[in-house]
Amino acid sequence: MPGMETTPTRLLIHGASGRMGQALLRLAAEQPQQVQVVAAVMRKSPAQRVVEGVPYFAASELGGVPAFDVAIDFSLPEGFDPVLALCAQRGAALVSGTTGLAGPQREALAQAASRIPVAWASNFSLGVAVLTELVERAAAALGGWDCDVVESHHIHKKDAPSGTALTLGEAAGSAGAAVHYASLRAGDIVGEHLVQFTGLGERIELTHRATNRDIFARGALHVARRLAGRAPGQYRVRDLLD
Ligand code: NAD
Repeated sequence: MPGMETTPTRLLIHGASGRMGQALLRLAAEQPQQVQVVAAVMRKSPAQRVVEGVPYFAASELGGVPAFDVAIDFSLPEGFDPVLALCAQRGAALVSGTTGLAGPQREALAQAASRIPVAWASNFSLGVAVLTELVERAAAALGGWDCDVVESHHIHKKDAPSGTALTLGEAAGSAGAAVHYASLRAGDIVGEHLVQFTGLGERIELTHRATNRDIFARGALHVARRLAGRAPGQYRVRDLLD
């Protein structure tokens, strides 16, 4: 409501020294009335304890971070369990974009959702949310066509296929397609996903290209603000877009 005073959502950024963590910290600093980063956590001991007013912690110090409303986790699968446990213990919400989670980690997330609100997504961009719906629709209409998901990312990305490729593949699979995956790792590509439907004598190519990782960080901050204070449960990005 216009003129209404709101308290900034208190955030913990997990994976703070990474590419996504840095984008989240930069964008959070641009909206001090909406969010306040109360802890930035990275795997190793931070070189500086406080950077631009934000307190930094090593992963080993996670238990000692101050009170927060939402943790935003863009780390690696080995960092996921401790931050999920911390949120469950503190009754805080969790937004996670970490990809490559193992089956038991996905189950632990689902179990935690009976106690806290959680939003895990392989991709926090609006464009991919729309692409997923288009893929569902195409797969349902094109029974018997080949369906291939081809993803390209920068050479530092560890997991393959990407979490987004798997999400797109699941959407096509749920509509009846038998999906095949291919992964390319090259240069500094932020993220490209092609979903190709091939029939006899014709082909449809649905492509999303991310040229700047700020889209994911902006989406995660948007979701975090809307997740704070919600009832426990698993939320999708498309549930929290408005
Ligand atoms: P990165 O390698 O640049 O950063 C990883 C960060 O995680 C670092 O800060 C590192 O210190 C921290 N970390 C590693 N192990 C940890 C541990 N055990 N405990 C705590 N912190 C730990 O990676 P990135 O490019 O920033 O990507 C991070 C994750 O986000 C990856 O899983 C990537 O696939 C995913 N990602 C998701 C989206 C999305 O929209 N869902 C978008 C981009 C990237």
